[in-house]
Amino acid sequence: MAPPIYLDYQSTTPLDERVLKAMMPYLATHFGNPHSATHAYGWTAEAALDLAREEVAAVIAAKPREIVFTSGATEANNLAIKGVMQALGAKRPKLVTVVTEHKCVLQSAAACLRDGYEVEMLPVGSDGLVDPDRLSAVVDERTALVSVMAVNNEIGVVQPLAEIGRIARAAGALFHTDAAQAFGKIPLNAEAMNIDLMSISGHKIYGPKGVGALYRRDERRVAVRPQMDGGGQEGGLRSGTQPPALVAGLGRAARLSSDGMSQEAGHLKTLMDRLKTRLRADIPDMLLNGHETTRWPGNLNVSFPGLDGDLLLAELRGLALSSGAACASAVEGPSYVLEAIGRGEAETRAALRIGIGRFTTDQDIDTAGNDIVQAVQKLKGLCS
Ligand SMILES: *Cc1c(COP(=O)(O)O)cnc(C)c1O
Repeated sequence: MAPPIYLDYQSTTPLDERVLKAMMPYLATHFGNPHSATHAYGWTAEAALDLAREEVAAVIAAKPREIVFTSGATEANNLAIKGVMQALGAKRPKLVTVVTEHKCVLQSAAACLRDGYEVEMLPVGSDGLVDPDRLSAVVDERTALVSVMAVNNEIGVVQPLAEIGRIARAAGALFHTDAAQAFGKIPLNAEAMNIDLMSISGHKIYGPKGVGALYRRDERRVAVRPQMDGGGQEGGLRSGTQPPALVAGLGRAARLSSDGMSQEAGHLKTLMDRLKTRLRADIPDMLLNGHETTRWPGNLNVSFPGLDGDLLLAELRGLALSSGAACASAVEGPSYVLEAIGRGEAETRAALRIGIGRFTTDQDIDTAGNDIVQAVQKLKGLCS
């Protein structure tokens, strides 16, 4: 049997073979420790980090020294949120974030709450977007950090980053964005958008798993308490020997994504529009979750009212996709993101998150459309 068609690009992306090629020398020949300053083995490894730092920084108009390599976006989010609250919380005890953030942001916020800081959780509208007026009302001179993700990993909506950045800056607060689903995919300019901290993940941009980065605006202005004690790598912010192969892969993945950004987004929009049109034509009661147009075109999250999600997925064995939320399905609850946009029981039980990307073909889209339409029609026939 053929392997299922991969439609879960928000969960992870395949490794681009050009990325693998950039990584290979550091897995095989160049095994040095980038921290070894006394010999060529170390210098070669360090040069790989230097290049990757430039490649990552260039994507967001940042300086190479503002990039801190981490094990991924989860670590970057922990470092940004806990690190800023610990550094600034005595003077500014408040953290403002949003109910639809990734679990690692929500759990970092929960940790801050346990440590005695104040946490303000903003709701989103039925379109999944943060209302800038509501944000303005809670961001004040007691706020250290505003943390709002760029592109939502479940429903794909793009938050108004430039406006959020302006609001945070006007109150003297720092602005952090979890850009795991946005970096290399939509234009991001750290300076122009007043972004002080940004989290990045390698495996969401066709790079390797286990590597990511935190962008941190010039250190005099952004105080962050390290979360790892050790040898003082990454400017003291993230101790531990950096993995040159993974970092080289992240750098190459960043450059490739950035170079092909507008072309790739256009390609995905064409494919996704075609799938959406097909599904809407044959399943008129299908609901789109999240804003209709302010969204990343590689994501489609849809609900089928009245149907059962497990039965639906069971009918779709030829497609590798996720029910409404990858994380939610692991713990068997309704998706908290769908709940946050006001979807009720009947609408969250059967939701699909369809994620397409660089290697998705026209044929994949047509097969997926046929399979989903058939499955939904079959289940509806059983219900009625
Ligand atoms: C994948 C993802 C993360 C976690 O990234 P890792 O690199 O796997 O730790 C965090 N936030 C968002 C929005 C994501 O999509």
